[in-house]
Amino acid sequence: MADFAATYECLRAAGRDPDVLHGKRLLVAGCGNAGSNATLTLAVLGVEAAYVDPDSVEPKNLAHSPFLDVTPRPDGTLPFKAELLARAHVAHSRRPDQVAHWAAAPLQAIPWGVLRTFDGMLVGIDDGPSRAWAARVGALLGIPTIVAGFYPPTGNFVATSNRDADSPCYFCLRPTESTTRASCSLYATAVGTVNPALQTAAAATMNVAIEAMTRFWHDDLRYDGHVFRLDLGEGCGELTSFRRYVDCPGPHERLPEPRPVAFDADAPARAVLDLARADGLRSPELMLPSAYVVSLPCRACGREVPVEQPEWMVRTAPCCGSGCGASGSTAMAHIVETVSPTNPLADRLLRELGLGPLALCVVEDAESGGVRVYELPGNVSDVFHTVTRSER
Ligand SMILES: [Zn+2]
Ligand SMILES: [Zn+2]
Repeated sequence: MADFAATYECLRAAGRDPDVLHGKRLLVAGCGNAGSNATLTLAVLGVEAAYVDPDSVEPKNLAHSPFLDVTPRPDGTLPFKAELLARAHVAHSRRPDQVAHWAAAPLQAIPWGVLRTFDGMLVGIDDGPSRAWAARVGALLGIPTIVAGFYPPTGNFVATSNRDADSPCYFCLRPTESTTRASCSLYATAVGTVNPALQTAAAATMNVAIEAMTRFWHDDLRYDGHVFRLDLGEGCGELTSFRRYVDCPGPHERLPEPRPVAFDADAPARAVLDLARADGLRSPELMLPSAYVVSLPCRACGREVPVEQPEWMVRTAPCCGSGCGASGSTAMAHIVETVSPTNPLADRLLRELGLGPLALCVVEDAESGGVRVYELPGNVSDVFHTVTRSER
């Protein structure tokens, strides 16, 4: 490791502080074309990164990724994308103490108490509601967030430093994007179109995105409130600013510092509401991190089918099973985003409502608008696997 310091002299000469980069923790949400093409640069910079993606590698991923491979694991299953990127990150870093983390889970499964420990989020998920969910959390927690997308031969990203509540947010630019899936999308037939996502567009775009994040970390806000578009077909790129939109539906507020609580995720939601009331909120309402689906209509006969899961866990519209077809009724989707003390869901365990260990329980007063935030106890090691140099 004699040349460890020299490795970073170029970086220093360019005005980048290796100590700043080594001190930063970046969450990479989505390990497909976007995440895969960020890993190499992040590793060379020595950033500590956590990779989040629920999927295993498929052969079709290989054309646009330098680090994904379909060699089965000893148990015969295909490896998770997130794990392969975390291992590649550590393997390509020059840092003797490099670590990286991974979770084979959707981003919505990562508790906000863990998300808030990151200094940035790089989002490349090809699912609109998930991108919007990430953008909303990034704003609420005040974390610099970059959301990337590709339409080959073009790539683009939206960069928001989220430094203060009044600065432009993702939803100032895209006010119609929703963090929840319209329940009807669950009933639509999947369209089997192939996105010819080329590595060239992704690799080029993601490196500009990392440049934007690196500049945020050095207090250079030139990318803040900007959209970057790169067109490899035309050989040009452009950086366009956007403004705070007066009717923005995004969260132009920041959550207050969370307080730890004595009870855990196996307490009923009512425990949080009672605590908030004792803390001065007269009409407390618990805001769920993701919408909770109580029931949905059967996709075949329209009858009400209990679902009882956070929305991100619901993959397809349910079917009521035996006896289906006998009813002519059409039930409404029953989806809940907040729980008040009079809601029967207040007696459910926090865990069942999607508030597991290290979740932030956000409670808002329906009268005053006052907000309290409580953090449930838990271990980060239950959320992320960690890769170190000795085990790469
Ligand atoms: Zn906004
Ligand atoms: Zn049915």
